[in-house]
Amino acid sequence: MKEQNTYEWGEGVFTLLSWFKKDKVKNARVLVVGAGALGNEVVKDLALFGVGHIYVVDFDRIELSNLTRSVLFREADAYSHSYKAEIVAKRAMEINPQIKAMSIVGNLFSEVGFGLYRMVDVVIGCLDSRIARYQLNRLCMRAGKSWVDGSIENMTGSVQVYTPGLSCYECGLSRDEFNHIMVRTGCADVVNLQSSAGRVATTPISASIIGAIEVQEAMKIIHLDTEGASQFKTLQGKLLHYEGLTNRTNVYKFSTWKNNCPAHERWEPVIEGPNLSAKRTVSETLSTLKSLLNVNNVEINMCNNKFIDRIVSDKPEKEFKVMIPDSQLDNYMSSNDELRKLRYVTIFHKSFYENIDVDFPYQDLTLQQIGIPLFDVLHVSTEKGLFHVELSEDAALFL
Ligand SMILES: [Zn+2]
Repeated sequence: MKEQNTYEWGEGVFTLLSWFKKDKVKNARVLVVGAGALGNEVVKDLALFGVGHIYVVDFDRIELSNLTRSVLFREADAYSHSYKAEIVAKRAMEINPQIKAMSIVGNLFSEVGFGLYRMVDVVIGCLDSRIARYQLNRLCMRAGKSWVDGSIENMTGSVQVYTPGLSCYECGLSRDEFNHIMVRTGCADVVNLQSSAGRVATTPISASIIGAIEVQEAMKIIHLDTEGASQFKTLQGKLLHYEGLTNRTNVYKFSTWKNNCPAHERWEPVIEGPNLSAKRTVSETLSTLKSLLNVNNVEINMCNNKFIDRIVSDKPEKEFKVMIPDSQLDNYMSSNDELRKLRYVTIFHKSFYENIDVDFPYQDLTLQQIGIPLFDVLHVSTEKGLFHVELSEDAALFL
């Protein structure tokens, strides 16, 4: 038996596979969005393969009902209400101590820096709602990254791979599906009651099969050559459907790429801001941006979040100072007795900021405090036009 410190993961095992490129896998960065049933299976397989850097995103906590199909969760995790992402990342490193798995507890759209989407080789979606898929697709298209989408229900499941220029989730939505998403994400100034997503019944079998195929597709993307060509048949622009009831598996062509789809807007070029961090204040950031871009006027346009300073209830008319990002408002209101009771009987209106310039009244707050995550890319309007500027000082936190 080899000494523990000289053993390299997969040596003499994966290295026997003609296609397996050890260095590519070891250096690969994969973002896994969702740490439920599929996320558990996906991260387990990525760890077994020895994928060097895994980032796991989820805002949810573990419940007892999750244990039936989540291989990395234990009963004690449910009793301690641990965060799914944290446990998944921790267990992945127990399976394979030679990899690095990092958790991000938060919303995929508003609380994960766009720099991370740009940094990874491939994104794997392990999601259970259309809105989350719609948002993830927007980010991946902006970053120019392929993303693997898995979905499971009962004994069936499907996997699709969306690749910029070839296939796009938003292009494939029907009018009804699109309208449904718009209704749920649309109303910016009214506080919505966050309804829990309709839970679908799944089995550990569907999760294993679909999660495994998602990872296999991600491995193919990691092994693409520099021209983007593959030695394998990939699911890029295709849909794989698995029916457990009949054991039937079909692959269909699914390459919808329409003109004028708003999701295809690519954010490039991105200018690196080595002295920019979400830990810095608004006023510091505005002045750093002015000198970096050599302009007189800068305005940061928050695209995925807002800063709420007050909310106002209708009946009785009453104002509450909250001072938090929109993404945290729902949690905040649930944990405040007065607000929690009121929200069932009245509507709340938000007073918010999404364009941040010298007139923003809370200049001493940090970017994180107003809802801009670490390692994000800022959308900046100036007299010379639009710029995309990365909070590059934060990159070190994700290496
Ligand atoms: Zn599209």
